[in-house]
Parts: sequence; C-alpha cells; structure tokens
Amino acid sequence: MKRLFVILSITCIGFFNLNAISGSYGDDKNKRGDDKKNKAKREDTSKFVVNNANIIEGDEETTDTAQILFPSHDLYATWDTLSAHPYNFNECFKVDSVCIQLTSMGDGGFVMPIKGPLTSVFGWRRYRPHYGTDIDIETGDQIVSAFDGMVRFAKYCHGYGNCVIIRHNNGLETVYGHLSKLLVEPGQKVTAGDLIALGGNTGRSSGSHLHFEFRYLGQALDTEDFIDYEKGTLKDYCFTLRKADVENKYDLRALHSRHKRDIGYARASKGGKYTGPAAKNGIYYVRSGDNLGRIAKRNHTTIKALCKKNKLKETTVLRIGQKIKI
Ligand SMILES: [Zn+2]
Repeated sequence: MKRLFVILSITCIGFFNLNAISGSYGDDKNKRGDDKKNKAKREDTSKFVVNNANIIEGDEETTDTAQILFPSHDLYATWDTLSAHPYNFNECFKVDSVCIQLTSMGDGGFVMPIKGPLTSVFGWRRYRPHYGTDIDIETGDQIVSAFDGMVRFAKYCHGYGNCVIIRHNNGLETVYGHLSKLLVEPGQKVTAGDLIALGGNTGRSSGSHLHFEFRYLGQALDTEDFIDYEKGTLKDYCFTLRKADVENKYDLRALHSRHKRDIGYARASKGGKYTGPAAKNGIYYVRSGDNLGRIAKRNHTTIKALCKKNKLKETTVLRIGQKIKI
C-alpha cells in the first residue's frame, strides 16, 4: 500500500526578471521612456515558480490533492499575475517545431470570444507591431474564454487597457484587450465559452473593439492561422509551430528591423543615403558624407584601429556602401 505525495515547492521570487520580450504589448508597445517605470513595476512583482516535483512514497492509500497545478505548468516556468508577458520565447523554445494540440477529448473545445467583423489583422502597423486580431464589437458586449483554462492576468495594462490573459492546457495563452469591465480574477478556472469580461474601448484604442491574441511562451501568433473567422471554428485541432515560422512570420519586430536594414543596404549599394543602423555584426556600410573619423566616432573606435582592421590608409577615399569591419 503506497501513498503518493506530490509536493510542489512554490518559490516566491521578487527580483527574477524574465521579461525580455520586446514589443510584447500587442498594439501597445511601450515607449522607451516607459521602460524604467515598467521595470520597477516588474521588480515588485511576485512570481511563483513551480520547482521540480518531489515525489515521496508513503504507506497510505490517499493522494494529496492540495497541489497547485497551473495550466501548462510543465511548459512555463512562472505564474505571474502582475506582468502581461513575462516570458522570453527564444530562451524557452529550444526545439525546431512543436505540435500544439489545441483541443482534446473531454475538454470544452474552442469557442469564439465574440463574433464580429475583423477590423485589423496581425502584422506591422505604421510605427509598431500589431500582435493581435481586432474584432469589431459594441461596448458592453459579452466576451467569453476561447478554451478551457485559468485566468493568469486580469487588470488594466498600458496599451491593452483592461485586459484578461488566460493560460490554457494546450500551452497557449489568449489575450483579450480594451475591455470595459473585467468579470474574472487571476487563479479563476474557466471553461471555453465562459463569460470573462465586457468589451470596450480602454487603453490605446479608438472605437470599441476586442483585441484578441494567441501567444505561445510569450510569442504572439496570428490567430487567423488557427481560426476560420467566417465560420467561427478552428481550422484544425493541431497546430505545428516551427521556429522558422516565428522568425519569418510572427516575430514582427525582428522582421521589421531586418526589412529596414535590407532597405538601408540596398540604398547604400546604389549610392543613396544610408538610413539603416550603424555597425551590425561588426560590419559598417559607408554612408554619404562619411569619413574614417566619423565612422570611428560613431562606432566607438579609432581611425588607427579601423585602418589596421580593414587594411586602409588614413588617406583612403571611401566608397558609399563600402563594407568596413569595426
Ligand atoms: Zn488590436
């Protein structure tokens, strides 16, 4: 006769800052000046880390049911109720691909949070990434949970306005933004279709709509890759997430930087004005009006060092677009 105790050690650590995701607030990316404020806020946050379960065998037949198991606790290191996106996808996602089983036998399946026409889709907006899908609604409309899960975050958040984030057993987190009223609390279990909030126009929003996101380990994914919005159903029960897709499709900030850099290189090679970043991966492309002194200053080095590294003389005339090793 054996008794199985599963003891979960819940460690509270206040200064474990995992939030390295940039642009993690959907269409509400913080301005640079907000970083300090948010950092301070995050440092005050208590984060619960589920350590490895210690399994002790005993003599009795009862099972200790007083265990706290957050949805997908095996996938996520933290359960943070104060920070919207405390994860770093690139640090957490160590495989080339993963198959996400969206619904399983016996769970509540998938329910559209609310039906309505789409007014904005996943992608780069003029100045910032838009990590969600916007659904046109009226303020006060009922918003329901998309899958079974547990509310992780329910509070006002810069950009999102009143926001609910639900962690699901399938590994995804769903984000519901610009709400007028929150009807759930962190730690509350929900079933697909349960009322969680009323829609609204809070945060960075002009006009009532629901900002709806799918995230996996903090990485936003395009909900339209999962959902047939016409029918209001899932396109498939499984979704294969590949690292390559994240790099080529979902990591909007990295894609945007790459795009800008490519434009800069193209301009530089054509002799136009280079507008891209300074040295990247140790290579600087000469811009219009550059000389070795300016390049050295901009890249915190010396003319001498540049000459030595690039086998140049101090009097060498530089070409626009020429590669300079920094
Ligand atoms: Zn949005």
